Amino acid sequence: RDKFFKYEYNNPYKDPELLKNSRTIRVNACIVVLARNEELYQLKSSMRQFEDRWNKKYNYPYVFLNDVEFTDKFKEQTSSFTQSETKYAVIPKEMWSYPSWINQTKAAEHRKKAVEDQIIYGGSESYRHMCRFNSGFFFRHPALLEYDYYWRLEPSVDFMCDIDYDPFLFMKKNDLYYGFTITLYEFENTIPTLWNTTKNFMKEYPHYINDDNALKWITKDDEHYNLCHFWSNFEIANLNFWRSEPYIKYFEYLDKEGGFFYERWGDAPVHSIGLALFTNKSKIHFFNDIAYSHPPYQHCPINKDFHESGRCHCDPGKTFDWYSCTEKWWAL
Ligand code: GDP
Ligand code: MN
Repeated sequence: RDKFFKYEYNNPYKDPELLKNSRTIRVNACIVVLARNEELYQLKSSMRQFEDRWNKKYNYPYVFLNDVEFTDKFKEQTSSFTQSETKYAVIPKEMWSYPSWINQTKAAEHRKKAVEDQIIYGGSESYRHMCRFNSGFFFRHPALLEYDYYWRLEPSVDFMCDIDYDPFLFMKKNDLYYGFTITLYEFENTIPTLWNTTKNFMKEYPHYINDDNALKWITKDDEHYNLCHFWSNFEIANLNFWRSEPYIKYFEYLDKEGGFFYERWGDAPVHSIGLALFTNKSKIHFFNDIAYSHPPYQHCPINKDFHESGRCHCDPGKTFDWYSCTEKWWAL
């Protein structure tokens, strides 16, 4: 565990200039919330902490997205929770439906089998549309086109420490593409052919692979996927990375293959593999100082400063870092 202290470099909350500039400089960024009307109260719980710990000091706008219209109740109650601007948008049909080349009978048969095999969310059609939307479309949703950076927020998550600077400004200042708090190993049975499909893509488009990539982090022997990924329910990232040619081509290649429907490919491994292949690894940042929980896992900083200064309400003994791919990330 001492290693984690050794790697306490580049920590934004220790940069006085960033702290000062955070009060005056505003980044072209928003908070993105994909949610269902039925999740109103779980979302309010997330928003309350997100506002109190951070956004009430910075007032970044929210963009709420849904595959159906938000109810007036949802709009009223969420907008009453923040001083920020709130926008509500429906997802266009083509971003949340079957593409023409998908055989829906085959997809339904696969879902039936996935339930028998007890694959997590195996029987859910909407979950697959959600994963495909988050993999390939949210960043080009009309309501997001005007922004460069986003912070993804979900229902039922917790923020357990004060955040006294603007992470968007930190991202921008260092020209970072992606920030994470938790990493995990994926369930292999959700993505049986994702890695082979990825390898075929790499063979066809070798010029897209970054020379200083993070492939080492996601592979064993540079050959097999080790299932490591950033847990994408938390993301602070640059929208323009997802909009770039290599990632779009990669998403389209995956989408043609059909694994979002014939298997249950998640947006977390897809984002993570895309980042590992197409960016310089120094573009990815571990927000060690942001305490975040999405049950059943949480990241809580272990550095005593956080707890002795009264900034946090999490138990550092409960941080998931030791069981995840985060140590491997720091080794890289
Ligand atoms: P998990 O985190 O993988 O367990 O999945 P969640 O149920 O939390 O879904 C991930 C995100 O997508 C959350 O922000 C959900 O609110 C949202 N989401 C999932 N399914 C749907 C859906 O069918 N419609 C809408 N509008 N949002 C969804
Ligand atoms: Mn979730």
